[in-house]
Amino acid sequence: MHRRHFLQFLGLNALAASLPRRAGRAAESMLVIGAGMAGISAARTLQAAGFRVTVLEGRDRLGGRIWTDDSLGVPLDMGAAWIHGSRRNPLTALARTVGIRSVASDFEAFALYTGNGRQLSADQVSVVMETAADILQELEAAKTHGLVDESTSIADVLAVLLPEYALVGAEKRAILWALASEIELEWGADASDLSLLAWNEDRAFGGDHLLLREGYGKLIAFLARDLNVQLNTVVSEVAYDRSGVRLKTADGRIFEADRAVVTLPIGVLQSGAVVFKPALPESKRAALSRLQMGLLNKIAMRFTHPFWNEELHRFAYLGEATDEALEFFNLQVLHEQPILVALARGAQARSLERLSPQQAVWRALETLQRAFGRAIPQPESFAVTAWQSDSFARGAYSHVPPGARRSDYNTLARPVQNRLFFAGEGTLSTYPATVHGAMMSGEREAQRIVRLAE
Ligand SMILES: Cc1cc2nc3c(=O)[nH]c(=O)nc-3n(C[C@H](O)[C@H](O)[C@H](O)COP(=O)(O)OP(=O)(O)OC[C@H]3O[C@@H](n4cnc5c(N)ncnc54)[C@H](O)[C@@H]3O)c2cc1C
Repeated sequence: MHRRHFLQFLGLNALAASLPRRAGRAAESMLVIGAGMAGISAARTLQAAGFRVTVLEGRDRLGGRIWTDDSLGVPLDMGAAWIHGSRRNPLTALARTVGIRSVASDFEAFALYTGNGRQLSADQVSVVMETAADILQELEAAKTHGLVDESTSIADVLAVLLPEYALVGAEKRAILWALASEIELEWGADASDLSLLAWNEDRAFGGDHLLLREGYGKLIAFLARDLNVQLNTVVSEVAYDRSGVRLKTADGRIFEADRAVVTLPIGVLQSGAVVFKPALPESKRAALSRLQMGLLNKIAMRFTHPFWNEELHRFAYLGEATDEALEFFNLQVLHEQPILVALARGAQARSLERLSPQQAVWRALETLQRAFGRAIPQPESFAVTAWQSDSFARGAYSHVPPGARRSDYNTLARPVQNRLFFAGEGTLSTYPATVHGAMMSGEREAQRIVRLAE
């Protein structure tokens, strides 16, 4: 990374400011729509390069799909939680600079319950994991067989592969859980909604997956600390022409600038809640209609005492019904408090959103009861997400469904008339669906604008 930008990432503004700014830039004004990671990172880089930057955010808080909730007495990340891959990930250095402590998740430290407190033995678990690894390899190999194309989903190929394994009983449920955890939980989407060809083609950082003790929110607050962010400012119209941009808000305010960076989630763009005048180019609209938002929802519960094995990092109950297949993360390992967070993905997460938060908690408690086979305490407090109904998100994060292709992300990233620039996790094919991807995309667009103004 270029030295100047490295300093900016670390928030060392005084040092960054001492680097020369190019003449003539100060006159340019810039609007950034959205104060999530992409918007904040674009705004920081633009401001440090001498642009006059205003960030317009519809919510009453920063962060977007980064949301650290304190209602359970500790900072709980109800949106993004992990720094995925600590090695060379720019977020790792940033977290260190901000003084955020982290704990590496040990995804191997898990248990699979079959009911009444019984769990698969270590030997059974290793057979399950080996078989699941074989199936994942076969899925990967199927990409090159020439029998699949862009319309093939992962579920299509699993439907052919799985019968060959003649799986039955608890072993079958365990292997299906392992595959769902690896594929569907990761993308917040059912295997039928994931393109096989696009799956596993994005890049990843090596190293540990880190949970943040003080929460992701602290990181965003640090990055945004000297930016002009207008909260409660819902953009409803983006008009642009060769001379500049004119943004209208839902309450009738007008903001004008030379250029704008749009970091709206693709679900929001698809919903039509923001009208573009003139309409976005056909190629961009087509890419937008092909890509999809997945869904991941969280049910966080705080108990008076832990009734689960405190050493575990995660566990699941292997029920008959797929909507019981919640995965529970033990946040005792992060916060030293008796807190479980249940994760639901895809159709299962959508069905949870049809329940009230209290009913969603009951659903999670029923699963726990079946797993442990005894009365379990009621949680003393809880928090439940509904990312699909959230009109500022419309889902959790993007994926490539059958019929779409990874290059659709690049099409979404293309500037329009050099007036509108597009950033956000759904605009990069290398690291989509992540916080670091959102950060890189914001930085990418800021750099593009800087180069343009040179
Ligand atoms: C449940 C969940 C778990 C996740 N887990 C992880 C994880 O562990 N690790 C990881 O790396 N990533 C994770 N992610 C993904 C990660 O959160 C996102 O990829 C990233 O935060 C997206 O940043 P962004 O800036 O692109 O979008 P956003 O954060 O969505 O920012 C867009 C902003 O635009 C605002 N906005 C929307 N509409 C308007 C409007 N009309 N006017 C003005 N403002 C508007 C929104 O309020 C928002 O603040 C998770 C996401 C979810 C939902």
